[in-house]
Amino acid sequence: MPEEHAQDMPICGDCDGFPTVAITTGNNADGSRATLTVTCPACKGTGHTVTRGPAHAKGAA
Ligand SMILES: [Zn+2]
Repeated sequence: MPEEHAQDMPICGDCDGFPTVAITTGNNADGSRATLTVTCPACKGTGHTVTRGPAHAKGAA
């Protein structure tokens, strides 16, 4: 199978696959909603667990 599936990567257990979360912090002075966007530091916004080292070598011939 030549195709590689990105879904083989495990979901980040820190954010459960939702790396960016918008937190409502209240309302601004002008009445607009103030939101704070936080990116998961564990997976750096990828939503997947980051593994060290080289990815599994393909076609090692
Ligand atoms: Zn994460």
